[in-house]
Amino acid sequence: MLIIGAGLAGQRAALAAAEAGASVAIVSKVHPVRSHSVAAAGGINAALNPEDTWESHAFDTVKGSDYLGDQDAIEIMCREAPDELLWLEHAGVTFHRNETGHLGTRAFGGASAARTYYVADITGHALLHVLYEQLMKHHEQIDSYEEWFTTDLLQDEEGRCTGAICRNLRDGALEVFNAKAAILATGGCGQAYEPTTNGLIVTGDGIAQAYRIGAKLMDMEMVQYHPTTLAGNGLLITEGARGEGAWLLNAKGERFMEKYAPNKLELASRDVVSRAEQTEINEGRGFPDGTVALDVTKVPRRRTLEALREIVNIGRDFAGVDITREPIRIRPGNHYIMGGVKTDSDGQTTIPGLYAAGEVACVSVHGGNRLGANSLLDTLIFGRRSGEHAAARALKMPMPSTPASRISDTEKHIAAIMNRPQSGRRIGAIKQELGATMNEYAAVFRDEKGLKKAHEIVRRLKDEATKAAIDDRGSVFNQDVIAAIELGYMLDVAETIVVAAIERKESRGAQWRTDYPGRNDEKWLKHIDISVNGADVPLVSYSPVTITRWQPEERTY
Ligand SMILES: Cc1cc2nc3c(=O)[nH]c(=O)nc-3n(C[C@H](O)[C@H](O)[C@H](O)COP(=O)(O)OP(=O)(O)OC[C@H]3O[C@@H](n4cnc5c(N)ncnc54)[C@H](O)[C@@H]3O)c2cc1C
Repeated sequence: MLIIGAGLAGQRAALAAAEAGASVAIVSKVHPVRSHSVAAAGGINAALNPEDTWESHAFDTVKGSDYLGDQDAIEIMCREAPDELLWLEHAGVTFHRNETGHLGTRAFGGASAARTYYVADITGHALLHVLYEQLMKHHEQIDSYEEWFTTDLLQDEEGRCTGAICRNLRDGALEVFNAKAAILATGGCGQAYEPTTNGLIVTGDGIAQAYRIGAKLMDMEMVQYHPTTLAGNGLLITEGARGEGAWLLNAKGERFMEKYAPNKLELASRDVVSRAEQTEINEGRGFPDGTVALDVTKVPRRRTLEALREIVNIGRDFAGVDITREPIRIRPGNHYIMGGVKTDSDGQTTIPGLYAAGEVACVSVHGGNRLGANSLLDTLIFGRRSGEHAAARALKMPMPSTPASRISDTEKHIAAIMNRPQSGRRIGAIKQELGATMNEYAAVFRDEKGLKKAHEIVRRLKDEATKAAIDDRGSVFNQDVIAAIELGYMLDVAETIVVAAIERKESRGAQWRTDYPGRNDEKWLKHIDISVNGADVPLVSYSPVTITRWQPEERTY
């Protein structure tokens, strides 16, 4: 089996597949512990406490999704969460313990119980390193290809996925990786926006690669803006801060969430809080730099220094603010994509033999809005399930073989990038225009005019990207060529986001249309699926939302 991506979803899939008896190759364009999961801060949800129930976790998730999440998948995720958490603990994750020695929790947004388990504010770091130790323990069955970049997915004549082409970043060599099953675990696409909380490597590769071979994408319009990011650079101030008791204040010093979410206040779901902040800013009650304030001084200083030490550092190093003594300026910023490659609850995409798990995938457990601390859970539950299902498939199949000559198309594509004349725009300039465009027109508030404008710009940038020149023509760690390929992925992903956002003519979750305010269940309680139509323009279709037990209701916090 081939697993593309070695963040939490990919590593969890690899371990599950190896345990099921498959032999696995796991490929990552960076060293596995540099995968973006390492940045996850606040924690992971599970209804493990005896007073809590998985049904309550599931209902909170359904409500958080603004009823667009598929309830069968949400039930699976929430039911399996406690065992997964214990598995992690037994594997060596040093979760926080409370005064009685039990695993301790913190409150998170949109949750009716404090069910977020955490390691200070470095939860992703702790999880990823423990998983990597386990990966090494299984080295006889898992071959790790670190600093290999997947360029294309392969298909046989029947349309089944048979592996991928990968480039060794050290020397530029291309190889065919034949596989009986492939799992995409390549993470999200935050870099299509500027600024974003996501690192430079989060460029939507897997979403675009699956889309290009005909896989359906789903819920692409649902892009999460996190309520607390630093202005300018987009760095994240974890929701854990509000979970520990921090307040949001406007420039007049008012705790404005009292107006928008009188019960949950700062711990309403992220879409609600981000909209509230943006409304305060747009209506002139923010600070002149387009921000509002997060007041962490409401949290006892000792607790902040113990449980939120990373954001103490971020505040000091990137904003010059001691958050234990004064409020810090923040605003909503691009953070996460709820949409992705459409899968069932075993990770199967619409292409036989191709699976997807983690942020690249859309199961859809997050629907219109993801609850904080549900993403790490999603990566692990559906990473494991994909690994198990794909291993069972692989164990019954003969090995496909792709002729090595298939590499020549990719070789030609890369040679064409290297040989472009120096006259085109810079890749960085195109990427920056893309990010700024998405941040202006496909953000917290959207309307048809802006979205159509964004689409026009993305089409132009797609054209410019085919001519963008690069400087490095060598083969050793040529990041220029990789940046050119990644730009193509981001542009494809951006186009599908914009097309889906134009299509959904209502406001639900993270998609707030000022020209269509209000949710319209009669017409739009359905998923928007996007696929290629053969001519480089996204094709829209619909699929039903699975409702098991929670009928849509008005959503208040
Ligand atoms: C700052 C920050 C804080 C967060 N905090 C939390 C939190 O507290 N709780 C929570 O639930 N969620 C949190 N999230 C969200 C969560 O961290 C991510 O959604 C999740 O970790 C994604 O994991 P993943 O395994 O899907 O992808 P990633 O961890 O992004 O891994 C992707 C992998 O794919 C590889 N890859 C990508 N493209 C290619 C290619 N072309 N070829 C080869 N390899 C490739 C990469 O090298 C990497 O190994 C946070 C997100 C951010 C940005």
